[in-house]
Amino acid sequence: MATLSYLTTTHFDFGAVQRIPMEIARAGISKPLITTDRGVRSAGLVDTITGTLRGDLPISIFDETPGNPTESAVLKAFDQYETDGCDGVLAIGGGSSMDLGKAVALLAGSGGPLAQFDPLAGGAKRVELVAPLIAVPTTAGTGSEVSVGFVIIMADGRKLTFASPLFIPKAAICDPELTFGLPQMMTAATGMDAITHCIEAFLTPTVNPPADGVALDGLWRGWRNLPQAVSDGENRDARWQMMMCSTEGAMSFIKGLGAVHAMSHAAGRIERLNLHHGTLNAVFLPAVLRFNASECSEKYERIKQTIGLALGADIAEAVAAMNADIGLPSGLKAMGVEEGDIPDLIAYAMKDLSAITNPRSATEEDFEAMIRETL
Ligand SMILES: [Zn+2]
Repeated sequence: MATLSYLTTTHFDFGAVQRIPMEIARAGISKPLITTDRGVRSAGLVDTITGTLRGDLPISIFDETPGNPTESAVLKAFDQYETDGCDGVLAIGGGSSMDLGKAVALLAGSGGPLAQFDPLAGGAKRVELVAPLIAVPTTAGTGSEVSVGFVIIMADGRKLTFASPLFIPKAAICDPELTFGLPQMMTAATGMDAITHCIEAFLTPTVNPPADGVALDGLWRGWRNLPQAVSDGENRDARWQMMMCSTEGAMSFIKGLGAVHAMSHAAGRIERLNLHHGTLNAVFLPAVLRFNASECSEKYERIKQTIGLALGADIAEAVAAMNADIGLPSGLKAMGVEEGDIPDLIAYAMKDLSAITNPRSATEEDFEAMIRETL
């Protein structure tokens, strides 16, 4: 079992779920609100985890997390937290359940409304306290279990990224066994989210060489193991490596992300489509890599070394080939995005927190060109 102390305490290996009771006690939680979704619950993963808890520990379970968490779902979960007298959160699931849990912990510690914490309006300074939260990922992609951020679709339609060091969970429990039941498409999409985190974090101009090292290590593991994890979901080594790629991706994106995430946050808001964040990242990544190329020549050489590409080869093409290999769509049209969606995508991408740390600053025209290239 690896116990990592980087940003937070992470217990990482098969069997890590056995460490949950210890971390709940260490965090001083006497009644956790479990935030999860119905899929994770019906797959039996919540039972697996509650089975590790002390028999007399009272719990409350909120399993109505939507695919992309909304402010109204956060308020409903927070209401349950208060009504049931909870004093901490145990988030079990993918990025949505963990992000919803983080939002509940924030409201429990600092009060509402959620919008006052918008980091683009200086809201990070208003975060005073956050209730203790333990995160248990059941996918390998978001890395929310170790990240400073969470993303919520607000009641007014904005998809806001909240960020503060106080949002990092008190402990992360990474047990690759929990990902064995992930279907192929989800494995592919979440895996490309993790790989995109490693690449975008590495490329941001923020100076943080240790985080760069973590990003490249995560990329190395993810690139080599994703096809195997997709084709053979019970391959223990591939699942372990993908979970490490995911955790390392989020450890490295304390540096920020880039234009891929700006556009996928924008497209993730299209209500009629409810598109998966990881799939969106996968399809946007080639166009952004081409756009950034002029600013990143030395870093691209290091990425090529990491993923085993010849120095003259094209990274964007390699990513597109990976997407095809693991069964992801080749563009936005295949996912239902239409011409009429483009102006809205540009407007939101320009305002997204991730756009600020892209290595080459992108104008409206640049975003339009990247979106059209991705159609
Ligand atoms: Zn992401």
